[in-house]
Amino acid sequence: MIKVLANDGIHNAGKSALENEGFEVLTDKVAQDQLIEEINTKEIEVLLVRSATQVRKDIIDSCPKLKMIGRGGVGMDNIDVAYAQERGIDVFNTPAASSQSVAELVFAHFFTCARFLQDANRQMPGKGNTDFKVLKKNYAKGIELRKKTIGVIGFGRIGQAVASTALGLGMKVMAYDPFLEEAEIGLEVMGVGKIKTVIKTTTLDDLLTNSDFITLHVPGSKGTASLIDKNEIEKMKDGVVIVNAARGGVIAEDALLAGLESGKISTAGIDVFENEPQPREDLLKHPKVSLTPHIGAATNEAQERIGLEIADKIIGFYKK
Ligand code: NAD
Repeated sequence: MIKVLANDGIHNAGKSALENEGFEVLTDKVAQDQLIEEINTKEIEVLLVRSATQVRKDIIDSCPKLKMIGRGGVGMDNIDVAYAQERGIDVFNTPAASSQSVAELVFAHFFTCARFLQDANRQMPGKGNTDFKVLKKNYAKGIELRKKTIGVIGFGRIGQAVASTALGLGMKVMAYDPFLEEAEIGLEVMGVGKIKTVIKTTTLDDLLTNSDFITLHVPGSKGTASLIDKNEIEKMKDGVVIVNAARGGVIAEDALLAGLESGKISTAGIDVFENEPQPREDLLKHPKVSLTPHIGAATNEAQERIGLEIADKIIGFYKK
């Protein structure tokens, strides 16, 4: 029986699909330093990870029976992909399965920021029954999203899902992506049908100077300069709202905090951090920042799609 180790978990739908095809799926978490021994003694052929387990050269070199490495999700920064492929190991991810979930988290942050929910949720438990009127006044200057301009930086799968949601909310969408001139965006209106429109990309400067809300959906670029730093923030509209659910570091955290302090940036929603899993405290404690611990893909629906896509890929590989 072919053994699959899902070291960071797998949705039951994916597990069952594999078991129905005769695979054995192990889901007990193995510590990083015991992985090589576990893979070799149990003769595991497929190693599945999310973002927690690292699959580096040591594992690839020491586990000759390993045939596939699967990443449930998008970013493959925890896997030495090219090295594994050179050694004949099939490496795959599930890029499309979580786009809608990430897009919805982006709007959870935008709505939070637009009405100061991040701070209201912190203040109400302590002061809600003593300073109700003061708090009410503090959060009196909320804004609506409708008719505002959203700037989407990186117009791939998630960027386009964000655009579709924004169109549904009645927002004007601007997009910047140096590798794309335009994209057709579909919007499913339940009970009505699908509406389609083409959005042409623009320059980064045009987007920065004209957007009320800005969200990033570019690949991570560890070790390189941040795409959004002090200079880019200076070009933005006063009171802009920014969300980063891409990768820590695509916005420079120092510049972000400086922008929040000066009021240039009114509020920010952050799902990903430069120093995960130990983000800096001044960012975590900032009253103008809405925070989530890298949960863009963490919905039942996304995890189910990821599990089923993983199962499909493994079954397809062994049927070849
Ligand atoms: P994608 O590859 O479909 O799209 C990325 C887009 O960015 C591409 O169209 C590319 O042309 C564009 N791009 C590349 N460099 C750029 C640059 N310098 N400026 C502007 N655009 C640039 O990827 P995706 O599936 O949309 O994912 C986007 C990001 O979201 C990735 O960083 C991914 O790791 C992250 N992500 C986060 C979560 C989460 O839990 N928060 C979940 C899934 C994905």
